[in-house]
Amino acid sequence: MRKRWGDPFNTASITNKSISGKHFPCFEIFEIGANPSVSVEEFPQPSETVIMEYPEQPGLSIKRPVITPKAVIHQKFGSSANYRIEEVKEDVENGCPGLTIPQQAKILYRCHLDLPGLSVTSEPFSRKKDAEQSAARIAVEKQLHIQPSTSDSTPEEASKELVERISGFFTDGFLSSSHPLIGHFGVALKANREHFGMIPISAIASCDVKVNNLCKIIICKAESDPLLVSSLIFNAARKSSELCTADDGLWIWKKVPYSPETIASVNSCDSDSLGFTKIQSLHIPCSIEENVEPLTLDVSDDNYYLDLIAQKLNVRDSSQILVSRTVGKASSELKLYFPLPHVPYCEASSYLYRRTRGNVELMLNQRASYLSGQYIYGNAILANIGYSWKTTSLYHENVSICSYYRMLLAKVPDGYYKLSREAILVSELPTEYTGRSNWRGPTPKDLLSAFCHQHRLLEPVFSVTSNDTESSVSHTLVTSSPLSSTEVIDKIGGDRLDVGHRNLDNSDIFRCKVKILSRKMQLILEGSFADTNRKESDVIHSSALRVLLWFDKYFKQLDIPVETLSSFGSAHGITVSVENVRKEFSLYLSTLGLKQNYCLENSSLESFCKNHPDRKLENGMVMLSIDGLESGIFPLHGSLICIGCAVALVKIGDPEKYYLESKDEFEFEVGTGAVIYQIEACVTQLSVNQTAQFVTDIPSRDVILVAAGETAKHLLEMPLHNCLLEYTLKVLRVAEPLEDRMEQAFFNPSLSKQRVMFAVKHINESSAATLVDFGCGSGSLLDSLLDHATSLEKIVGVDISRKGLTRAAKIIHQKLSQISGMSSIKHAVLYYGSITVPDSHVFGFDIGTCLEVIEHMDEDQASLFGNIALGTFCPRILIVSTPNYEYNPILQRSAAPTMEEKTTPCKFRNHDHRFEWTREQFEHWAIDLSARHNYHVEFSGVGGLADVEPGFASQIAVFRRNSNLCLPAEEKPKMEEDLPRPYELIWEWSNS
Ligand code: SAH
Ligand code: MG
Repeated sequence: MRKRWGDPFNTASITNKSISGKHFPCFEIFEIGANPSVSVEEFPQPSETVIMEYPEQPGLSIKRPVITPKAVIHQKFGSSANYRIEEVKEDVENGCPGLTIPQQAKILYRCHLDLPGLSVTSEPFSRKKDAEQSAARIAVEKQLHIQPSTSDSTPEEASKELVERISGFFTDGFLSSSHPLIGHFGVALKANREHFGMIPISAIASCDVKVNNLCKIIICKAESDPLLVSSLIFNAARKSSELCTADDGLWIWKKVPYSPETIASVNSCDSDSLGFTKIQSLHIPCSIEENVEPLTLDVSDDNYYLDLIAQKLNVRDSSQILVSRTVGKASSELKLYFPLPHVPYCEASSYLYRRTRGNVELMLNQRASYLSGQYIYGNAILANIGYSWKTTSLYHENVSICSYYRMLLAKVPDGYYKLSREAILVSELPTEYTGRSNWRGPTPKDLLSAFCHQHRLLEPVFSVTSNDTESSVSHTLVTSSPLSSTEVIDKIGGDRLDVGHRNLDNSDIFRCKVKILSRKMQLILEGSFADTNRKESDVIHSSALRVLLWFDKYFKQLDIPVETLSSFGSAHGITVSVENVRKEFSLYLSTLGLKQNYCLENSSLESFCKNHPDRKLENGMVMLSIDGLESGIFPLHGSLICIGCAVALVKIGDPEKYYLESKDEFEFEVGTGAVIYQIEACVTQLSVNQTAQFVTDIPSRDVILVAAGETAKHLLEMPLHNCLLEYTLKVLRVAEPLEDRMEQAFFNPSLSKQRVMFAVKHINESSAATLVDFGCGSGSLLDSLLDHATSLEKIVGVDISRKGLTRAAKIIHQKLSQISGMSSIKHAVLYYGSITVPDSHVFGFDIGTCLEVIEHMDEDQASLFGNIALGTFCPRILIVSTPNYEYNPILQRSAAPTMEEKTTPCKFRNHDHRFEWTREQFEHWAIDLSARHNYHVEFSGVGGLADVEPGFASQIAVFRRNSNLCLPAEEKPKMEEDLPRPYELIWEWSNS
């Protein structure tokens, strides 16, 4: 015999069901009697049994501490254990008769412990914590059946415990404890319900964490299913000999009446009066076609809030509703309330709950389910209300439309980024991580961990390996801890020319693995990425970003089978456990249909263009105007740009504008997809100080409501068809793309590394023993030379930047002390001085290098340097590198598709460059010098190819002295005192 439980759906919602035409999983409660072979103990074993297959990670190993009585109580009762400390003054025996000074009474502490159904008091102790442990011990001893329960107690044990726990609530003792359920009992004992003191199951489910945890142990799926939790509570109550349950609703009450004293005491301790309060909640209709709307709950002292919610949900009373777990912040009381679904019901001693694809279809509330990560059915109410530990009276807070949409958005992989940049309509999750200094907003690592948190996954596990040598692999495990100091020294001051300290050696090939695990430690996804020539923290962030981008792709293409995305992943170093992904995200994805709910059937932008034939639709936008004079400063690929931006909602033909979002200053890196593509396409057509205005189609209604913020409610009634978004933006400033940022982005290995390799080759070919680096900067060349086996014994650096030299000294000193003994280097010196000034300290070296320096001087100074270098310093070999200007268009090519080839001359690579030469100019300079000083010169370069236009990115001249014997006569060593020695010694190291 089957009977229906209530009728949560009105006819309207049933019609909606047929409109949506979707088939959702449904639930059945089977009568045990009808199927005698199945008993409660044979609950289908959770299919997701805990698999501990991940033991090697030290961060994850589980230690079992010594279990104190307090811990036992905590495991058993969680936050419903209430400790109260009372001060007691001990009478001090006055051991000294006649002493007039009054002796201070000693203060001791006694602890009262209230548990559901039990209260105990400890002996006095001098320390509070001893009193607490003592009280806990007494409680453990009194309740003999309390055993330290570990989290891996079996479903059978948990079933028993659940019965005890529920029974415990219905005791006289419980009513004198403090627990959020007491509020519900207070109502129940005053209310005129069918049975005295009956409590709706939704009250228990919404108040007691422990009950929910036990349900999860009994069946894993209870985690995502409030109906299952309520069924389990109901079953447990039926098993208890002390409790009664109703046939027509989720009610539980106590068989034996309460003592009159208990009732009197409950009635006398009135909690703070609430009066009459209006609280804002939201109605989330089951049908996607209906909008989420504000709903006012008029709560008062004589109106039980659960009954009120039931009434709003069109069901009889609080026994007909279910409640989700807390949505959002754990500390709030924000929960979803929904009608008990329409399920077959049978009268029997036990129930077995099972999910089937059977005959009863339920309406899954997609939005509510997505929000809570639980199965929510029918029309739902989202309200922040409830009895809590925080206050003695009903806790409540308003829930706004905007906060609801923000919560929804925070769950999608790119949502948190947009929210934290406070630019919903402007920003996008960048597709590239090019370093901390270019990144704006929370780091990729933080974003990924927020995403995992939102989806109840474990913190991502990063492991970084650097393949120094095959034998020794350093291993770092990075979990949620803040990044190491490497991140902090990311950008130490550095002078304006400085290209940063680069790790140019072979050891810096980092490999980063990222693992995403479910709560049950099942591997969902693993990314393994090799990155060269980057800092460790960079490698972590770029790996985190790639994983996040995979999720983003997954969430945005729900119609694409996981398998397809998995092969997409593997092409990018990501291995996906298809089955586990599906298991973890099925709920989210089945409910994400709402994201596709864009009102784009017919683009308003297209109809706008039909009415304005002079306007061109390009890149998903129509440019309205560009104002202001061209300043000549254009944002380039890789530039950090700062814009001001305002976005308004406009209706075609209506002069009224509705401003949604505005940013006075918004910084991003051009070319990384950090903004919507229309903005990127627009700004690359602008120069600093220019303003542009364009319109685009509107995104989804949800996104607009988030952007509108707290004013969103005015937009609720507004139909959004024929609406456009109007962007007004101004380019405020552009930070130059750093030379090395471009070099790193375009070349692998980076240009600087290639220059080092070039130098190493010439050093070894010529068996040079002494080297001077002209314009050594922060010592990147000298430092990385030390990583290579060379013939060098003495290295010297000269520069006019003290800052650079200080850094060089630190870096080289550290490297030398590390490798001392293993290196051929016996002597290293750094001088402060200009390389256009002769100094005998650097006369007659085997090899001189001058990498990317001459372009930092005026052209005549560059010639002066050439003359002094070849005429006075006279190294056997001189290697000079400088940018090839002809290569710049390739480096500076904009990402924007619309960018027309500008006829304006190309910019230099670095704002400090005084010139950048073409190949012809450089060759002219070099050939002239070599002829004058008895050298011959060869041209080469790095980045690109010699015979492919436009040649190398960095052009190099290698000068060789024609005769080893003849130094120019006028510079032949004179008397010691005649020699010029203007250079200042900055640092010296010698290994004697
Ligand atoms: N060679 C280094 C640094 C290049 S940046 C590298 O490849 O990484 C250019 C350097 O030239 C700066 O450190 C700057 O201080 C230095 N420099 C510019 N004019 C100089 C001069 N007249 N004498 C010495 N160094 C100079
Ligand atoms: Mg330079």
